[in-house]
Amino acid sequence: MPQIKKLLIANRGEIALRIHRACHEMGIKTVAVHSTADADAMHVRLADEAICIGPPSAAESYLNIPNIISAAEISGADAIHPGYGFLSENAKFAEIVELHNLIFVGPKPEHIRTMGDKIEAKRTAGALGLPLVPGSDGAVSDVDEAKAIAERAGYPVIIKAASGGGGRGMKVCTSPDQLETLMAQAGSEAKAAFGDATVYIEKYLGNPRHIEFQIFGDGKGNAIHLGERDCSLQRRHQKVLEEAPSPVITPEERARMGGICARAMADMGYRGAGTIEFLWENGEFYFIEMNTRLQVEHPVTEAITGLDLVREQIRIAEGEPLTLRQEDVVFRGHAIECRINAEDPRTFAPSPGLVKQYHAPGGMHVRVDSGLYAGYKVPPYYDSMIAKLIVYGTTRQGALRRLRRALEEFVIEGMKTTIPLHQALLDDPEFQSGDYTIKWLEDWLARQGG
Ligand code: ADP
Repeated sequence: MPQIKKLLIANRGEIALRIHRACHEMGIKTVAVHSTADADAMHVRLADEAICIGPPSAAESYLNIPNIISAAEISGADAIHPGYGFLSENAKFAEIVELHNLIFVGPKPEHIRTMGDKIEAKRTAGALGLPLVPGSDGAVSDVDEAKAIAERAGYPVIIKAASGGGGRGMKVCTSPDQLETLMAQAGSEAKAAFGDATVYIEKYLGNPRHIEFQIFGDGKGNAIHLGERDCSLQRRHQKVLEEAPSPVITPEERARMGGICARAMADMGYRGAGTIEFLWENGEFYFIEMNTRLQVEHPVTEAITGLDLVREQIRIAEGEPLTLRQEDVVFRGHAIECRINAEDPRTFAPSPGLVKQYHAPGGMHVRVDSGLYAGYKVPPYYDSMIAKLIVYGTTRQGALRRLRRALEEFVIEGMKTTIPLHQALLDDPEFQSGDYTIKWLEDWLARQGG
């Protein structure tokens, strides 16, 4: 079995640090690659070696495949972990990594490709027995066909771009006479944004929750699930706070739905970590997409299962079997993650800058994943997330109390952050009771503003 001795981390920020930590605990040396803007980043300081791969713009650095492969060859790395974002769901990159006889810590390239095409992903999910949102079987270009599909599914429907991502390229349509215009609009917007005008149609769910299952496959026909995460608290389709387990899922439902997901992944021969995302309404799950990578919110799953997901990814990449069988996975307690962004908590305008003071909360069951330190300058070129605060409690109420305490302790001076937003959220009785959907946060924000 190939043992990884040196791993190149093709990412930045907190996730680069997260991967470095797992590697060092496993006795694996790390190579950081970074843009000129990240020369002083924490993960660059801690890695065994660091190689500059380009200027600040991500296209020229973190997305620069030739430079990343060269860095792996120069440093003698034997594996590459892509983290999330950047090249993590780029099938071509995974192929190139493998062509260079490097281990790609991620799924098989063909599975990344299948799940990256939303129509293909839906078709595959359906064939594997996952419940789908009613709608078209594939691409729709003809208006009469679209009308027939919408009639069957029932209005409102949503027109979605096959190559869409980040919540873009979607149009909600409430009546047949809007279909033609909205289809044309969605198509041309998709063409402009993703270079592909293909659209498909789904029933529009009015008020669902976003519930996703974490799965792991060994690539040889074995797979397990690690339960669900509730990521319904979103602003503009961006997750703000995540929790596990979901306040609305019973242990029986977890076992049933998780079992369906794990069997689907076993049948597929899926390798590594993956997340199957569903909308959930009136007790029913509807598949929307699968992410073939580690997720930002993976620590809440780690907190309730006691598993190190990055370690598990690396072991699987080395060809080891899964650490646990499904019956050995035990869910304990409740975990919540807050994404802390360098943004104005009211307007969400980015607020990068120099960290003048930094004090992370600590104590029992409090985890902070962040590359910040006093004197560090948050660069303006990348995502505004600067820290993740994860708390664990034996009950949801306990976790909420711990979260309040940890947020009180958190000091980040020199820039605006979304810490006050999380504190205000915690005071809301509806949030406290777990009674929210994907619409809830935006309504709540509108109420705060007004
Ligand atoms: P993307 O890849 O752009 O993130 P998704 O298919 O994951 O696209 O959908 C993003 C978000 O759009 C979902 O989390 C949900 O808020 C909304 N959405 C997508 N499909 C539907 C649907 N059929 N009904 C209602 N909302 C939807």
